Amino acid sequence: MEDFTIGRSENNNYVINDASVSSHHAKISIGEDFNTFTFNDLNSTNGSKINGQSVLIKKINKKSQIQLGNMLIDTDDFFNKLKAYILKDRTDFTIEFKVLEEVEKKYVKQKHRVNKFFKIKSGFIRGVITIGLLLFIMKSEILDSVESSRIYLMIGVGTIGGIISTASVSEKRVKHKLDDLYIDYTLEFNCPKCSFDLSSKSWRFWKSKNNCPRCKCKWV
Ligand SMILES: [Zn+2]
Repeated sequence: MEDFTIGRSENNNYVINDASVSSHHAKISIGEDFNTFTFNDLNSTNGSKINGQSVLIKKINKKSQIQLGNMLIDTDDFFNKLKAYILKDRTDFTIEFKVLEEVEKKYVKQKHRVNKFFKIKSGFIRGVITIGLLLFIMKSEILDSVESSRIYLMIGVGTIGGIISTASVSEKRVKHKLDDLYIDYTLEFNCPKCSFDLSSKSWRFWKSKNNCPRCKCKWV
């Protein structure tokens, strides 16, 4: 892809309006992985510095301090514009789209684990309460009167109430956990180019569509 140009002149991709910056001061070569950046000084009048050192050619990353002439560049702003430039030109996002398959797999797995844990936990609580109740009834068999059946009734009602309330508390907690998982999933499961939310359908569905419904970038 074409180099990303930097300089004072308006026809650069990144314009810096400062007298110490040459009209065409430098350019960034973008690697085939779209994530490797090489800074090239274009024989500028006042030179360039990366991390305080004068350079002509140097690999840079998001932590590099770039100085053109007397101007120290805002690194975040610079890389945001560089990223936008790369995204604008690219149409094939097959590699990034493939990663989404793993994102979906991870989400399904985590969701399954939360549900399974909840089932085991509530089953265990119910089991403990039932066994406790049975033991109590067995022990108090001597009380065979109207009074004792009233006690059994009270215990029975209490037990059922306990089971229902325990289950509903855990269910709420599970719902929160599942909501959290879903939020994380939707933040990741979107179009690699335009961030269009893809979480309403499965990865396989989107693969069969071949491209993004919004920006039309390709991914197969
Ligand atoms: Zn898109």
